[in-house]
Amino acid sequence: MSTLLQARSQCFQRRAAMRFLLGLLASVGHWLPIVLTSTMVAMVFAQGNLLILGQGAAEEGSWESLPSLLLAWLLLVGVLGNMGLFMWRDPSIKRVFLPSHQGQGWRYCYHCESYVPPRSHHCFECHVCVLRRDHHCVFFGRCVGFANLPAFVACLLHLWLGLLYSLVLNAHTLVALVQQGFSVRLLLSLFMPWLMWILGQMDSWDFLSTFVADMSFVGFLFVSGMLAFHMWIVAHGQTSAEWTHGFKRYDLGLQRNLQQTLGDRWYLLWLSPFLPARLPPGDGIHFTEGHSAAPQTASAPAAPSRRGARTVKNL
Ligand SMILES: [Zn+2]
Ligand SMILES: [Zn+2]
Repeated sequence: MSTLLQARSQCFQRRAAMRFLLGLLASVGHWLPIVLTSTMVAMVFAQGNLLILGQGAAEEGSWESLPSLLLAWLLLVGVLGNMGLFMWRDPSIKRVFLPSHQGQGWRYCYHCESYVPPRSHHCFECHVCVLRRDHHCVFFGRCVGFANLPAFVACLLHLWLGLLYSLVLNAHTLVALVQQGFSVRLLLSLFMPWLMWILGQMDSWDFLSTFVADMSFVGFLFVSGMLAFHMWIVAHGQTSAEWTHGFKRYDLGLQRNLQQTLGDRWYLLWLSPFLPARLPPGDGIHFTEGHSAAPQTASAPAAPSRRGARTVKNL
């Protein structure tokens, strides 16, 4: 009898340990993207600061470095502040009271077991429906939706400026390398600085400068594309999915599109993440249509449909 009890106890302990391990892995997976992104931002920022201070010291007047340092810190505050706002504002239907009378375009989500409003879509990474869902951001590990789109766009803008600034600061490193003339050594130094560093062909500072310059260049191209695309769809009142399908039901004209998606004070978005009224107007449930300029009227909800029944009409 006691052997049986011992076996059951061990089995219970093993299951508890397995549950703890799975929970830990899920938690690590949840936070890993934002930790990696923050680490990259911190690395670029730290190297930029060292570069500015080094230049200041070389020119004997460290006061000359002050405006450059101030600009770097302002950009860092912009990136991290907007990143924090993005993570803090939950765009999902959790903690949102969805009205019992559904209107046109509502549909049933079998995963959330709830009717959800138009423009909401289920995210299979976040395991929840997201209001006015745009996409799931792999770098932040969260969905971009109604509540956090302004912070996302502002973060992209500050990242773009920060990477541009880093490129300017590191330009001399790249120019010095290229001036050595075309060779295999140049190609390896540019594209695989870590290999040259391991082989002892590059000192630690040159490695760090080239690595950050490479990262800034690739990051700058990527963020430029992302920022241009999101400014385009925001200007046209669309989500990424609506843009893919050429769906323009919510296009209200440039100024109102900017107000509806980025908030009434959209023109101050680039200044600071700590300005008030950074939420877009509305509730993420009801949207004004462009052709009628009137909110959607209540009518019978769409019949429950499985995944895959998504149509342009219901976007
Ligand atoms: Zn759902
Ligand atoms: Zn998601």
